Amino acid sequence: MTRFKLRCVYCGRSYDLSSRIWRCECGKPLDVILELKDLEVDFRLLKGREASMWRYRELLPIPPKARIVTLGEGYTPVIVREVDGVHVTLKLDYLNPTGSFKDRGASVLVTHLLGIGVKEIVEDSSGNAGAAMAAYSAVAGIKCKVFVPADAPEGKKLQIASYGAELVPVKGSRAQVGVAAMKEAEKAYYAGHTWNPFFLEGLKTVAYEYVEQRGGTPDLVLIPVGSGGLFLGMFKGFKEMLGLGLVDRMPRLMAVQAEGFTPVYDAMYGEYGRPVPELILADGIAVPKPPRLEQVVKAIRETKGDVIIVNNKEILMAFKELARMGLFVEPTSATVLAALRRGLNEGVIEKGEEVYMPLTGIGLKAIDKLLKATSKGYL
Ligand SMILES: [Zn+2]
Repeated sequence: MTRFKLRCVYCGRSYDLSSRIWRCECGKPLDVILELKDLEVDFRLLKGREASMWRYRELLPIPPKARIVTLGEGYTPVIVREVDGVHVTLKLDYLNPTGSFKDRGASVLVTHLLGIGVKEIVEDSSGNAGAAMAAYSAVAGIKCKVFVPADAPEGKKLQIASYGAELVPVKGSRAQVGVAAMKEAEKAYYAGHTWNPFFLEGLKTVAYEYVEQRGGTPDLVLIPVGSGGLFLGMFKGFKEMLGLGLVDRMPRLMAVQAEGFTPVYDAMYGEYGRPVPELILADGIAVPKPPRLEQVVKAIRETKGDVIIVNNKEILMAFKELARMGLFVEPTSATVLAALRRGLNEGVIEKGEEVYMPLTGIGLKAIDKLLKATSKGYL
């Protein structure tokens, strides 16, 4: 008897967990639902387990005897700092094996795909998810083809190709990259991380780790939102913990987006109305039409969170400040610090709040973007 179900939250249809379906027949995204009844989780009993996210194995939708595709991802360090009088827990998730939090999603998804016998996959990504899927596919022996925007950072493209994946640069928008990948997916399994529910399952462990590593619940979490995977993963993680009695309340979840790509803001308040900047610094969240947008908005409302928009100038300042704290992250990751500032200034965030900020990707991936920013006099 499995505790997990694959279900459409829109029309209620359920699917077998080993089904090759990646979205509902109604066209909407699917979710993995974990049955919490009679499930007991005690963090004290996990002490002797390996320092990776697989320490939460019973909470991940993988059969007990499956071969786990892992590179030791997750259980990354947390450090606590005081920023502008705010108590902030920084999660150094850029220290994952391929340099981003996406390794968590890739590990669960590729483990699942290996288990159901998938031999060949297609993915579309602005870079980090592509690198993660390429690396874990290499470990699993699965053939991987990654469609990326032609103007994605060179470092990310090189990294994807290095793992042995076939790299397909597509000219045009991020949406056009998705269309090209889905066309190819008529021949192979479409493992698009923006859709796939198993990917989200890995990302929920960022929530579990806060509670195990820090104890208690943060008041507020700042999360960069492109496709919304990390946001929804953390929402799910905290919600499951609430159901399991591991936390006594939900944190407020704040989505962070950058000017030019503000679908969450647009859906909540109407057009933000700023053009796409000439240099897209936060390329990891440059997603104009995330498939799970409605779910993100619902989670914000449910947790009494909000959305904060930052611009290139603020992102660069935050990048620099994090680097001066010894944390070399990519500009997409720096958006959370920029959002903290803006949130404090606009009164959306209060000084006494315990803030959790995942730092999602390593700065080494974005050297070419940072060099361009320098030549424009930003740094
Ligand atoms: Zn459906």
